[in-house]
Amino acid sequence: MSPKKITSSKLTNQQLQQLAHQVLNAADQRLIDNWMERMAMPNCAPDWFRQDIINHITTRAGREPDEIVRGMDAKRQRDAEAKARQEAAGPAQPVVNIIDLGKPAAGEQNPNTLVAHPCLGGCNTRLAVTIAEVKAQGAALYCAPCLDKAKKMQAHADAEAEKFLTTAGTGYYNCAYNNEQVLNWLLRNKKACTFENLTDACLALRSTLLPTLTIEQVRNMLPEEFNLRAKLEGSDVTGIMGGVDLKTLTTAKPEATIHSSNKIRTSELPPLDLAKGRGIRGAD
Ligand SMILES: [Zn+2]
Repeated sequence: MSPKKITSSKLTNQQLQQLAHQVLNAADQRLIDNWMERMAMPNCAPDWFRQDIINHITTRAGREPDEIVRGMDAKRQRDAEAKARQEAAGPAQPVVNIIDLGKPAAGEQNPNTLVAHPCLGGCNTRLAVTIAEVKAQGAALYCAPCLDKAKKMQAHADAEAEKFLTTAGTGYYNCAYNNEQVLNWLLRNKKACTFENLTDACLALRSTLLPTLTIEQVRNMLPEEFNLRAKLEGSDVTGIMGGVDLKTLTTAKPEATIHSSNKIRTSELPPLDLAKGRGIRGAD
């Protein structure tokens, strides 16, 4: 046996063995395992083997076992803090550089911390915005020319949706259920909200969109049909089914609150393809 150098450890023998398995190579691990086995045999000197294990880990890893564990704990702590900071900043934010102008924040990040954030308009401008602004996801994430352009696109998308609804008339039933389907179709197909694309969506979805109904059609519905349609359309909330005010029927009398006009949420749609020149000019 080698002469004993006094290096102590607060770790149990099992913890020392675990540590050896984490930081030492396979041959050293086998050696430690072997010492652990011999330690468990009757009539041996367990302290002797324990000291051998401590010394061996210290020599091979270059640091005493307790110091290695402290280092691991510190790293775990740092990782957890970094993860918490990342989560606080929202999912996968493309934050590239953090310049803390506030007091060094312990734990919670100072909402006034400035970060460099790429403009969401895709112009490669780096904006200096606060953490609070990144969380709010608002206008602050666009540079002035891109924000202007985005507003114009939004206005144009709204106008196209309006034109579509006016033109379609009773051919498209304007309700939350249908609008949701049309919106999802545009998103799935990466189509901008234009009159043509909305028309295409209607054609593609014609078998699943809820049609406009007449009073007669509602009256002639079977109870199952009525219930299914009411469920899809949320008629029990709005009191309207297929454009028919259910209060005018004698059969069903739900608590009616007439819904305000539905709106296709154009803001969630991909931007218009400016290259194709849909009548919008960029501000820059
Ligand atoms: Zn921009």
